Amino acid sequence: MKLDFDVIVIGAGLGGLLASFYLEAREKSCLLLEKEIPGGQLNEISLMEGYPIVGEMSGSHLAEELLNQAQEMGVCYRYGDVKEIRNLGDYKEVVTSQEVISCKYVLLAMGSRPMLLGLDNEKQLLDRGIHYAFDGNEAFYMNKEVAIVGNSEEAVLGAIRLANLAKEVHLIASTEDLMVAPYLKKRLKTKENVSVSYCTEIRQLLEEESHLMGLRLVNRRANEEKILPVEGCFVFIGRVPNSECALSLGITDEEGSILVDTHNETKIRNIFAVGDVVKKEDYQLETILSDCAVASRAIVYRNN
Ligand SMILES: Cc1cc2nc3c(=O)[nH]c(=O)nc-3n(C[C@H](O)[C@H](O)[C@H](O)COP(=O)(O)OP(=O)(O)OC[C@H]3O[C@@H](n4cnc5c(N)ncnc54)[C@H](O)[C@@H]3O)c2cc1C
Repeated sequence: MKLDFDVIVIGAGLGGLLASFYLEAREKSCLLLEKEIPGGQLNEISLMEGYPIVGEMSGSHLAEELLNQAQEMGVCYRYGDVKEIRNLGDYKEVVTSQEVISCKYVLLAMGSRPMLLGLDNEKQLLDRGIHYAFDGNEAFYMNKEVAIVGNSEEAVLGAIRLANLAKEVHLIASTEDLMVAPYLKKRLKTKENVSVSYCTEIRQLLEEESHLMGLRLVNRRANEEKILPVEGCFVFIGRVPNSECALSLGITDEEGSILVDTHNETKIRNIFAVGDVVKKEDYQLETILSDCAVASRAIVYRNN
């Protein structure tokens, strides 16, 4: 049976862009499908810092460069919102909102999205006081009171960064402690304008003229409520894997992350996964490079 492609890569974030390049360079015909603009989370990084190979450039510029290189190599890139993946044994079918495409291998690179607080007016307040990343928006909070929600490294680093420009930073953690290395706790303590509330949750987002103007907080330990008057709130409570199109394959854990072996292969033969959609310890650009190298090598060396 003649298949449409050797490999279909789903998602054109860093993982999909790199993997498709590697595969095509090793003579696997590759279709790269993306439902939004290419680059994924790279588009939210205003300046790539600390990556010597890349130099100083914006994440979206890097994405553009990677897509150009992939297409020059021969990768077929097109729009496609993948709804389902069918495992038909020897071959697979990828179902988008527009077509059904066949291939030998599928490489899942759908990434992740920020986890929301789940409060009523949260979506309406997006970029009107509620943010899920720093993308230059933090400058707006110069000399103002802001909140950061979360207990992770991302939240603590965010609080340290905001402390340099905001008047006061309130770090709101739902847990009894921060889940970060001791050196970061120490660094946080040196910031006099940062206060930390533990065992605390946000009950309500208060708004005025469609902009955030405060948070109604509840301290679970003391069972006390208070209003925190902040104009900005950065939410760093984790990320959700974009694995909906793979759920019917039964290759995810209870949180929706895709489980892979040391070759980045799922329990279904010839279905691989890379990047933030995968269950792993460290969600860094560096680990994505490694995922892509490992998965593409496994595909290229396979004989059947
Ligand atoms: C503001 C910000 C700053 C960051 N800074 C750093 C940093 O300094 N260092 C670091 O190591 N990491 C950083 N990261 C994290 C890093 O950018 C991510 O780990 C990485 O970009 C994830 O790449 P990915 O390809 O796995 O997923 P993503 O970038 O999430 O891309 C997945 C792509 O798949 C597409 N997709 C999803 N579902 C489907 C579907 N059903 N059909 C078709 N397409 C689909 C999405 O639209 C998206 O384009 C940062 C992230 C952000 C947001």
